Amino acid sequence: MQRRVLLATSNPGKLRDFAGAAAPYGITIANIPHFSSLPEVIEDGATFEENARKKAESYSLTVPGELVLADDSGLEIDALGGAPGVHSARYAADEPHTAECNTDDEANNARVLRELNGVEEKKRAARFVCVLAVARDGQTLHTFRGTAEGVILDTPRGQHGFGYDPLFYFPQSGKTFAELSAVEKAQYSHRGAAFRAFLEWYRGANGREL
Ligand code: IMP
Repeated sequence: MQRRVLLATSNPGKLRDFAGAAAPYGITIANIPHFSSLPEVIEDGATFEENARKKAESYSLTVPGELVLADDSGLEIDALGGAPGVHSARYAADEPHTAECNTDDEANNARVLRELNGVEEKKRAARFVCVLAVARDGQTLHTFRGTAEGVILDTPRGQHGFGYDPLFYFPQSGKTFAELSAVEKAQYSHRGAAFRAFLEWYRGANGREL
């Protein structure tokens, strides 16, 4: 059974999250070699699933025979009709639907706070969603979905994590995701949940044939 899975991401926060969750299972998660010099895959899908599959399939062609994992993730805020959703990484852009470049975390968080200005706490429900796709040689073998339910605060809290973590209060732990260590976050997060579903699949019947 392959013990190594290559991750298609340039986001160090995501690599940290996955490596933290994989460590107890004895599986090594590494970046695709020379990932930053590969042509970027355009994330223009309407769903997290579409984008995750597109990334996993494209990048797996660069490392023949290897298992490649790609994720697409984002924040859905009920009061904003599910925004920023698949546009989470570029929410601060004038037109997030068509923007080609990601906008920085601080600007994205500032936009969320602006949009939610005046919305009372009980109406600030939100969830992080993560969809993982595993592919080999250009074909998706499976996809996995994880979610984490929380509430958007009106001021950021905590120094860890990335993205919207400082605004995302997770009632079960009484902290924001930015106040959790990488190992704690992996226990509760959407990415951790999707990754555990991947591990179950990997260790099961399908996994043994890998
Ligand atoms: P993508 O999955 O690379 O398209 O980017 C998803 C975007 O959603 C990130 O840039 C973050 O803004 C946000 N996001 C996804 N997962 C998390 C998380 O665990 N914490 C904070 N923000 C996240």
